[in-house]
Amino acid sequence: MFITIHAATGALVGTQIANPILSFLINFALHFVMDIIPHGDKELGKRFFGLLNKKLNEEEKIKSLAAYGLIDYIVFVFFLLFMFKNFTFAKDDGVIWGIVGGIIPDLLVASYVLTKSKKIKWFFDFHKWNHHLLIGRMKNDIPLKAGIAMQILLFAFLFMLLAEINLVK
Ligand SMILES: [Zn+2]
Repeated sequence: MFITIHAATGALVGTQIANPILSFLINFALHFVMDIIPHGDKELGKRFFGLLNKKLNEEEKIKSLAAYGLIDYIVFVFFLLFMFKNFTFAKDDGVIWGIVGGIIPDLLVASYVLTKSKKIKWFFDFHKWNHHLLIGRMKNDIPLKAGIAMQILLFAFLFMLLAEINLVK
């Protein structure tokens, strides 16, 4: 899923858990639960740019993935800026460490793709295995457009809850 979704979830859960370590751990685990939900990003970068049937070499595949990731990252940065400017709870330790826990699995995955370091290969493999847990049993992943639409709706819902909590806190 988009890191923005993982971050928004981390922030939301973090508003309810004051302990930073606990919030980190719960959101780290929650990342994997959310990744199981089919969201259309099998062969992510290639699909996004309509290159699914093209034979890309390893470098081109990484490039399309990086471009997709960059878009996600830009949205994520603006979400963070907005949150720190407008939501008073954004400074809470539970919220900050909830966000870190929620996005760190994908940062580790990206580190592996870039470095191919043997130290984190097991983590990369586990993340991939988990990600394919459900879609591997389905004939096809859901269409990417549906996956993106679903995530935009999910984000709107999470954002609404965050705005609501900001009012009562
Ligand atoms: Zn992930």
